[in-house]
Amino acid sequence: MRVGIGTDVHPIEVGRDCWLAGLLWPGVDGCAGHSDGDVAAHALCDALLSAAGLGDLGAVFGTGDPRWAGAHGATLLAEVRTRVEAAGYRVANAAVQVIGTNPKIGKRRAEAQAVLSAAVGGPVSVSGTTTDGLGLTGRGEGIAAVATALLLAAD
Ligand code: MG
Repeated sequence: MRVGIGTDVHPIEVGRDCWLAGLLWPGVDGCAGHSDGDVAAHALCDALLSAAGLGDLGAVFGTGDPRWAGAHGATLLAEVRTRVEAAGYRVANAAVQVIGTNPKIGKRRAEAQAVLSAAVGGPVSVSGTTTDGLGLTGRGEGIAAVATALLLAAD
């Protein structure tokens, strides 16, 4: 068994589509970024890469690489899953917590868990929290996410 950890933070860009936890959130300002800015998916990618000892998101998906410009979180997760499985592991489970004020992730928890679980090939738990108005997430300047992953050696 191997555990991994990942975090991500992106600034909110007014008027940009909000992709978060693998879902599009209509009417919500999204995050800036080279890809779709999905901090939950990115934190999960880093947790999986970390657990497999495969480095991090920046090393795998360089921000200078045009293949990943605007890429959705589920696409990045599928690529990470391929690499994790090629390294001899499968996902036992993973968890991601979104830190921010908007959107309220709990309203679409089941939908987000279904999308992310399908992408990584194992159960993903999704939760949310706020910082009670403190810091960049509390002021609505950005969204953050923290994730963990547990991998098992494939038989
Ligand atoms: Mg990111």
